[in-house]
Amino acid sequence: MPSPGHETARITALDVLDVRFPTSEHLDGSDAMNPEPDYSAAYVVLRTDAADELEGHALAFTTGRGNDVQAGAIEALAPFVVGRSVEEVCGDLGGFSRRLVHDPQLRWLGPEKGAMHMATGAVVNAAWDLAAKRAGKPVWRFLGEMTPQELVAQVDFRWLSDALTPEEALDILERAEPGRQERISRLLERGYPAYTTTPGWLGYSDEKLARLAREAVADGFTQIKLKVGASVEDDVRRMRVAREAVGDDVRIAVDANQRWDVAPAIEWMRRLAPYHPYWIEEPTSPDDILGHAAVRRSVAPIKVATGEHIANRVVFKQLLQAGAVDIVQIDAARVGGINENIAILLLAAKFGVPVCPHAGGVGLCEMVQHLSMFDYVAVSGSLDDRVIEYVDHLHEHFADPVRIAEGHYLAPTAPGLGAQMLPESLKEYTYPDGPVWSARA
Ligand SMILES: [Mg+2]
Repeated sequence: MPSPGHETARITALDVLDVRFPTSEHLDGSDAMNPEPDYSAAYVVLRTDAADELEGHALAFTTGRGNDVQAGAIEALAPFVVGRSVEEVCGDLGGFSRRLVHDPQLRWLGPEKGAMHMATGAVVNAAWDLAAKRAGKPVWRFLGEMTPQELVAQVDFRWLSDALTPEEALDILERAEPGRQERISRLLERGYPAYTTTPGWLGYSDEKLARLAREAVADGFTQIKLKVGASVEDDVRRMRVAREAVGDDVRIAVDANQRWDVAPAIEWMRRLAPYHPYWIEEPTSPDDILGHAAVRRSVAPIKVATGEHIANRVVFKQLLQAGAVDIVQIDAARVGGINENIAILLLAAKFGVPVCPHAGGVGLCEMVQHLSMFDYVAVSGSLDDRVIEYVDHLHEHFADPVRIAEGHYLAPTAPGLGAQMLPESLKEYTYPDGPVWSARA
């Protein structure tokens, strides 16, 4: 039931916090391009004067330095948000997101890429969090119960129509309509398959890698992932250690975090091939569509995956058109929010490519699980070869942390997007004045 005053309620504030975790101290999250990340959140809260006192929470993820720049980019969007009717924003999230993306002055900072676009994503996602809370549903279900027409209205088809028209999108969604309820029930019973990156950080010893890999299999995961790309000799050894630890039936993906040019990527994968890597993730620059296509042709049957640094739907479109990827890795906090991710899910469905989201960082698992679950319910309708990345860091800071059981993400039931952090954590880790950081200064 709408609470009294809903009709006239306004968004009264867009608060932004610079929150950083000193993860570099333990080499958690270390890879070939990010040897010492401090996982950070440019954190957004939308406040309203509605009687329900609900707030919209979301974040943009960064790896430390520059989180203040990201926070500043979010603040630049406040004039587009503060003072708007809650009803109008939550009732037309497609229109809301298009207004933020297409501001004729701010778009010069992209267009649709980098800090400004990630800022848009954070604000759009906060609005979805608020809308789903008002509806009393987790976002995956809020989306999964929209009509195909309502979902098509969320998407900005500009620059997509050579690959995907609104009519084709509608057709994909209508074909997935039968069976939605059954798939919702299956998610509530079993959850959504996950894989874990926890064993494979580059800074870990062989012993720690082997122990964590065995633990992952014992915990029910059927896929793990190793960071590669610093030293080929080390990677061949680590791949052997991991393969011996998990046996032949568990998939081992590898992730180079953009470390290579095209030729070294192909050569490196030739060296790892005897241990049967399942996919190579981010072999080269996220902007290099033809480079990914060349790598894919040369390393088959090893699959090529990318997406966590893909700036927008247009680059995803081209990767798919060029036959450059086997796996699309959406990220909840990279592109312009849920609306653009719906476009990417639809593109992947059109091209028949599975989506295996990037997660980890801060709150990325909490947020992106909703998109995969929505994809299963209402877009692709499939779990085949689909897994969400899982990393067991920093979940304790969230009000509704992800729950993993037997290698699956259990479907969240709390209303919203899941990005809301605990007030104590926000206070402790605020940069540079929170107690965690002032103690280190
Ligand atoms: Mg990665």
